Amino acid sequence: MEKLIITAAVTGSLPTRKKTPHVPITPAEIVEAGVRCEQAGAAVIHVHARNPADESPSTEFKIFEQIYHGLKERTNLIIQISTGGRAGMAYEQRSERLSLKPEMASLTTGSVNFADSVYANSPELIERLAADMKHLGIKPEMEIFDVSMIRNAVELAEKGLADTPLHFDFVMGLKGAIPATIENLVHLKHSLPAGSTWTVAGIGPAQLIMNTHAILMGGHARIGLEDNIYFRKGELASNERFVERMVKMAAEFGRGVATPEEARRIMSLKAR
Ligand code: MG
Repeated sequence: MEKLIITAAVTGSLPTRKKTPHVPITPAEIVEAGVRCEQAGAAVIHVHARNPADESPSTEFKIFEQIYHGLKERTNLIIQISTGGRAGMAYEQRSERLSLKPEMASLTTGSVNFADSVYANSPELIERLAADMKHLGIKPEMEIFDVSMIRNAVELAEKGLADTPLHFDFVMGLKGAIPATIENLVHLKHSLPAGSTWTVAGIGPAQLIMNTHAILMGGHARIGLEDNIYFRKGELASNERFVERMVKMAAEFGRGVATPEEARRIMSLKAR
């Protein structure tokens, strides 16, 4: 089994300071969180931007730019920029940040009903974002909220809009997405084309459970306050504490943890 790649999703769109004092909001705080997560054992950072004034999700290029350059300067982490739509749904808003040429970016290959809204990803939008990523040498992380989205991702590869081997992230346990059960995780894994790599992002208490199974099944683990703010019931977490726990869990099960360099090889990232 390959070493475990730990992705830190440190901010996301939803958690606010009111909910947890540990969520990094400003570019400086996000960079600092990246430094601490790398020290703890993370190889990838999943990046969202916020408006520092009111903590709302932001599509502002300048904010992404500050975060990107700060992380580049201070870490060797693989930077994975979100192209998610909570901050703004239009293609232009979601694609502009790709011009920073991060090594990776997230790409959701279908639409989802969130609890309060529609997360709309039309076939045209998905193909345009995929084409941009391919053109810029950015590896997509296919964000899979339901099993049909795997097929959509494979189709992108068949059309020449994404290079194989593909890399997937299973988002499990979000209201409106696939429930976080072991049976579903096994089914998702078996639905992947041979040679793919995969990570699982369990939401809330599903984070630890799904990640533990990913360790055992040869997948990879995404942790962080984007998906879950509690270390255990009633106890708030920091991002780096989540990384530390994942490193310990992997060691208990005899699985090493990948450095960013090792993660680049495991996920077949293009040399820069
Ligand atoms: Mg995200």
